[in-house]
Amino acid sequence: MKCGHCREVCPVFLETGHEAMVARGRVQLLKAFLEGNLELTDGLRDRIFACLNCDACRITCPCGIEVNEVILATRRAMFEAGKPLPDPHRQLRERLYGEQNPFGQKRAERGAWLPEKYRMPRCAPLLLHAGCAISYANNRVGKMVLQILEMAGADFTLLGDAEECCGDPILRLGDLDGAKRQRERNLAEYRKYGVETIITPCAGCLKMFKHFYAERVDKVPAQDTADGGAHPSSFSPHLPPFRALHTLELFAEMAADGRLKPQKSLPKRIAYLDGCDIGRHSGVYEAPRAVLRAIPGVHLVEFPAHHESSRCCGGPLMASAPEMAADIAARRVREALEAGAEMIAVACPTCFINLKEGANRAGVKIEIQDVTALLHRSLK
Ligand code: SF4
Ligand code: SF4
Repeated sequence: MKCGHCREVCPVFLETGHEAMVARGRVQLLKAFLEGNLELTDGLRDRIFACLNCDACRITCPCGIEVNEVILATRRAMFEAGKPLPDPHRQLRERLYGEQNPFGQKRAERGAWLPEKYRMPRCAPLLLHAGCAISYANNRVGKMVLQILEMAGADFTLLGDAEECCGDPILRLGDLDGAKRQRERNLAEYRKYGVETIITPCAGCLKMFKHFYAERVDKVPAQDTADGGAHPSSFSPHLPPFRALHTLELFAEMAADGRLKPQKSLPKRIAYLDGCDIGRHSGVYEAPRAVLRAIPGVHLVEFPAHHESSRCCGGPLMASAPEMAADIAARRVREALEAGAEMIAVACPTCFINLKEGANRAGVKIEIQDVTALLHRSLK
């Protein structure tokens, strides 16, 4: 259709104004490439990598074109064809392969933030997957998650030092086989400890568990059963599916049934940003708001675009295009202020880090907090 509605919502286009940086332009470039009218130059590759995978264009597109899927498929095809990755992505992949996290922090220190009793896994139906960003960049929130679960009397385990990356960073850059290997290793660990439900404070990990890991289970061929017939579902008896929840979904349940009783008042106007991974990609919109509403004194205000229409914070470009990532975040910060917010709450460690950069870029003082930290503050 080439209607251009995607130009109104694409955070990268809104910063750059370049047609090659929006869904419509990207699709046209790929069409020209498929028809043999365009070389796969480094410039074309870099435009493909300048997409946030935020999926905002799908929501606004009258045809429902899944441009995010087109972009991810293109990255996979480029990777499989041996096209070298842009430098920041190549380095990220090397760090992840070497140390099992995209930051290149020491593998052996992944569980260093955990109290001793949580560093070794044990059999339990409920597993807390901290994720790379919480383990290395924001374990302050990780420690609060542990304390909240303890206050609610939850029985849970963590993989601790044995935890590995969910695979999202390498899946995004096109390394499908590497992400599958990551998934297989993690699934083997979950089976070992009888995990039935995984909770995570990381929105990126949640998206992976809900889609990429579930897809693995779905695609296992039907197994023969003892009576000679095919297994009634496509689930392998060796790979029981697990439920994946954001920790805030569990906390919302716990606040609703009285296991958590937020008491300390927080009289602030707070705008909650629906991050792309927890929102559009995982369908979780109400639980973070329910947790905030359970805190006495909180007055929720909304960004101009929220829930399914929410705009990305720019975080996925932090490593490869930090200036643009900060500009996009600054725009979100200004929107929150215009909506009358005194504070921005998030449910994703990437949003947290990048929005802080955005506030610096915008030159404004506004508190940015994880919803978990606000709940924790109210419970103490
Ligand atoms: S991708 Fe969708 S919204 Fe964008 S120009 Fe094409 S039809 Fe319009
Ligand atoms: S997924 Fe997001 S960044 Fe990529 S083209 Fe669509 S709106 Fe733009």
